[in-house]
Amino acid sequence: MIIEQPLMWLRDEIQSIIADWCEEKRSENYWREPLVAVASASDPLFGDLHRVIDLTHAMPTDILPGAESVIVFFLPFQQWLGRENDQAGFHAARGWAASYLATNELIQTINAHLRSRIEDAGYQAAVTPATHNFDERKLISRWSHKHLAYIAGLGTFGCNHLLITASGCCGRLGSLVTSMPLPPTPRPDQEWCLEKAGSECFACVLKCSYEALFENRYDRRKCYEQCLINDRYYADLPLVDVCGKCACEVPCSYCIPTSAADK
Ligand code: SF4
Ligand code: SF4
Repeated sequence: MIIEQPLMWLRDEIQSIIADWCEEKRSENYWREPLVAVASASDPLFGDLHRVIDLTHAMPTDILPGAESVIVFFLPFQQWLGRENDQAGFHAARGWAASYLATNELIQTINAHLRSRIEDAGYQAAVTPATHNFDERKLISRWSHKHLAYIAGLGTFGCNHLLITASGCCGRLGSLVTSMPLPPTPRPDQEWCLEKAGSECFACVLKCSYEALFENRYDRRKCYEQCLINDRYYADLPLVDVCGKCACEVPCSYCIPTSAADK
């Protein structure tokens, strides 16, 4: 089976899964239109992940022998969700924590559905967990969705250490590896973070009052401590180790930023 416009096909599939999922689960729709991009499994940038992240980071062929492509998708959050989290004070908003749980479940559903559609087309696919695929001691991911998303051309890194996509950084990423050969998406040819592009911003740094994010440093342990404080705060919910204040109501939250006055 030949798929004429694979990115459009993947995006339409994801969009219809989101609609069906919300209806079936009677869930709030926390997401805007999904973005999808593809990296070639043989992109030389994958080789750099051992140096940039850790030697334990997996390669596409570790996930699926015979891998040809890595599909990465971004589910951008609705602006009201980011606003609510920004205004919630010290802790993450309850809706932010609930959306984390819903998004984990939705990503699993999207992955299972896409895998089955790819298998119907005569290829193989392997899925990876949406989260908690990291080394608990080093707090380093063995399959870093944001680095995959960068390689696939979904966006560029911000000073908040998140990936800024065409729909901003406020959202979640998912991925799967497939033997289906797909055309790779071109990467942006300029920085989308205002500071990295040479304009003044650091709005994300101002949002972090937990001593984790600084202009020239990111303390992942402090960041994770805050995420666990939120988890304890919402003790009635399953694990919700989230914070996200540095992604909410900043110029790059919902779009490619054009000026620090965007928020
Ligand atoms: S808030 Fe500003 S400095 Fe921070 S990541 Fe976004 S654009 Fe870059
Ligand atoms: S997620 Fe929270 S603690 Fe971590 S850097 Fe962002 S604002 Fe700071």
